[in-house]
Amino acid sequence: MKAPNFRYMKPASLDQALDVLARQGAAAVPLAGGQSLIATLNLRLSAPDILFDISDLDELKGIRVEEGIVSIGAGTVHADIGSSSLVRGHLPLVTEAMRHVAHVAIRNRGTIGGSLAYADPAAEIPACSVALGASFVIASAKGGRVVRACDFYNGLFETDLAAGELLTEVRLPQQNTEEKWGFAELARRHGDFALAGLAAICRHDGNTVAAARLVYFGCTDYAKLAQRVAAKLCGQQLPLEESEWLSQALALDLAPTDSPGLRAATKIKLATTLTRRTLQNMRALSAD
Ligand code: FAD
Repeated sequence: MKAPNFRYMKPASLDQALDVLARQGAAAVPLAGGQSLIATLNLRLSAPDILFDISDLDELKGIRVEEGIVSIGAGTVHADIGSSSLVRGHLPLVTEAMRHVAHVAIRNRGTIGGSLAYADPAAEIPACSVALGASFVIASAKGGRVVRACDFYNGLFETDLAAGELLTEVRLPQQNTEEKWGFAELARRHGDFALAGLAAICRHDGNTVAAARLVYFGCTDYAKLAQRVAAKLCGQQLPLEESEWLSQALALDLAPTDSPGLRAATKIKLATTLTRRTLQNMRALSAD
């Protein structure tokens, strides 16, 4: 299939891009790396009047660290984030997750802003953002606002972004030495979207879990904290023994549904295995 007709614009600055959005509203859709959007156009899942290309806007690119916060421009491509020594030093969870985002050619074009705004339930970076307690900077012609990642996602492919708004920056608190991190995913082939995945930040007291922030992807509808699992995990000794409580808490937190080729019960099983495996292999910041 071919994309429906659309008009194409390429604003020269962020201000111009916001102006286009203010004037055109929902009729205008930002085009970043095009790695998800072009596929949805070709499949006729969306039919915007105007595509406005933000892929060359320098204001949306770059990575910097200030006062414990790693700020990443929304237009920064996955490949640059995955190879950044700043990110590796301060956010090893993100560096690890980037290895699993699609394939090299897609990481060279796809952007962090596109991934966060698209809100694919199987995407790695929305899950990491919620687990790390990130905030998103959102701009519009009327001004800006900052929203916490955990408040940004509210349903399958649904976010808090309104017509006329553009995601401009992601702010991630740098990981610290008191917390351990873990990341794992199960996919049919490396680089495919995950069947089930987990981004985890935990605090331990010896072999006991003292606090946990767990965000699953691929096996639930959007990036959110698995609060029941986290509450049950506190006080548990590692390694976790096989037990019913974990699967029951996962079923409540993830509420998965059957999808083609993967039943909800299988998703719970995968998430249970991933949880035990990830918690057993948590890494410390200084170890990287
Ligand atoms: P685009 O495709 O340009 O845009 C996506 C959506 O976000 C559009 O609705 C667009 O309007 C909106 N948007 C883009 N930027 C902004 C912004 N700054 N503000 C507001 N809205 C914005 N992703 C994964 O996470 N894991 C995978 O395993 C994975 N596998 C893939 C495999 C294949 C074969 C392909 C084609 C893609 C895969 N992807 C995967 C998706 C990839 O990571 C995309 O890069 C990403 O989802 C979208 O980024 P983009 O810059 O290409 O955005």
